[in-house]
Amino acid sequence: MLVTNHVLAGALLGGSTRRPLPAFLIGVASHFAMDAVPHWGKWRDREYFLRVAVADGLAGLTAMGALLTVARPERRAAVAAGMIGAALPDLDKPAVLWFGASPWPAAVNRFHSRIQDEAAGRFSLEAGAAAALAAAAVAALRRP
Ligand SMILES: [Zn+2]
Repeated sequence: MLVTNHVLAGALLGGSTRRPLPAFLIGVASHFAMDAVPHWGKWRDREYFLRVAVADGLAGLTAMGALLTVARPERRAAVAAGMIGAALPDLDKPAVLWFGASPWPAAVNRFHSRIQDEAAGRFSLEAGAAAALAAAAVAALRRP
């Protein structure tokens, strides 16, 4: 799943839990749960993967900044923790690209790889999830 969608889900969860440590832990769990549902992937080649990954990484960082700006001040720490926890498992992608190795134990890498339910023709599913998660996150972060 795109890291942007993990970030949006992490913001929603962080804004709902309102406590940083649970938000972080639930964010991490949400990452693996979301990777196990059908989503966009199975890139035709490395170049295409990198084009999507760079755009997605930048969109995810932009979403983090925007959601922290939108969040009510008393929720920002939990929102940040939720987003970081939700995005953290995918740190293996840039780590492998730049340093040649994943920061996670081999068992985590195997599990993370094995749970993926990816297919190339699912961009609209991914985009729809992004729209729904963004709307829900903004609503949750602004709610008094
Ligand atoms: Zn993942």
